[in-house]
Amino acid sequence: MEFGEYLKSISRAATTIFEGMAVTFSHLFREPITVQYPDRMPRPLPETLPERYRGFLEVQMDICTGCRRCERSCPIECIAIDLTKNPATKKQELTRFDIDMGKCMYCGLCVEACKTESTGAIRHTKEFEGSTDTLDSLTFRFIPEGQSHPLYKAPKDPREIPLGAYGPCAREARERAMRDNPAELEELRALWVKERDANKKGGAAAEPAAAKA
Ligand code: SF4
Ligand code: SF4
Repeated sequence: MEFGEYLKSISRAATTIFEGMAVTFSHLFREPITVQYPDRMPRPLPETLPERYRGFLEVQMDICTGCRRCERSCPIECIAIDLTKNPATKKQELTRFDIDMGKCMYCGLCVEACKTESTGAIRHTKEFEGSTDTLDSLTFRFIPEGQSHPLYKAPKDPREIPLGAYGPCAREARERAMRDNPAELEELRALWVKERDANKKGGAAAEPAAAKA
C-alpha cells in the first residue's frame, strides 16, 4: 500500500469512530425512550393500548340477564354459569359466573354474542397483567363464593342499558382470584386426597369380606 493510501485509511477509520461516538454522545442530551415499567409510567399502560385491544374478559354483573348466550358461544368451555332458584323470592338467580382466563383464547365470540343479542355485560378490557405461578389464579369468579346475583331485566331500548366503565370488574375479579383461588383449590385437593385415602381403606377392608363370600 502506498503511503498516501495508508494515511487515507487512518483518516477514514478515525472519522468513522468519531461519527459513532457522536451518535452515542448525543443520547446523553435526548429524552430517554425506555420506560420504567410498571411503576414509573407517565400514565398507566392499559390507557395507552388501542381501543379494540382484547385483554382480560370482565362481566358487569348488574346488567347480566343470565341468558347464557356467552357460555353457549364459547367453543372451548371457558365460561361456567349457574342459575339457582331462590326459595324466598321463587326467582332464578345467578350463583356462579366463572371465566377461566388461563384457557381463554381471546376469540371474542362470547363478547359478540352478548353485544348483539343481549346487554354487552361481558366484554374484553385493556387489563392484561396477570402473571402468576399457578393457573388456578386465572379463573375469575364474578360472583364470590356463597353469594348470588339477581337477573337483570333488559329494557327495550338498548341505549337505556347502564353500561359501566370497562376495567374495574376485571381488576376486582383478578385480585380476588389471585388472593383466594390457590388457597381454595388447595383445600379442595386436600379434601379429595382425604376422600380417596378413606375410599382406599374402605376398599381394602371390604376385600377380605368379599373373598370369604
Ligand atoms: S347477559 Fe351477556 S354476560 Fe350475561 S349471560 Fe347473557 S350473554 Fe352472558
Ligand atoms: S373469548 Fe373466546 S375462548 Fe375466551 S371465553 Fe370468550 S368465547 Fe371463550
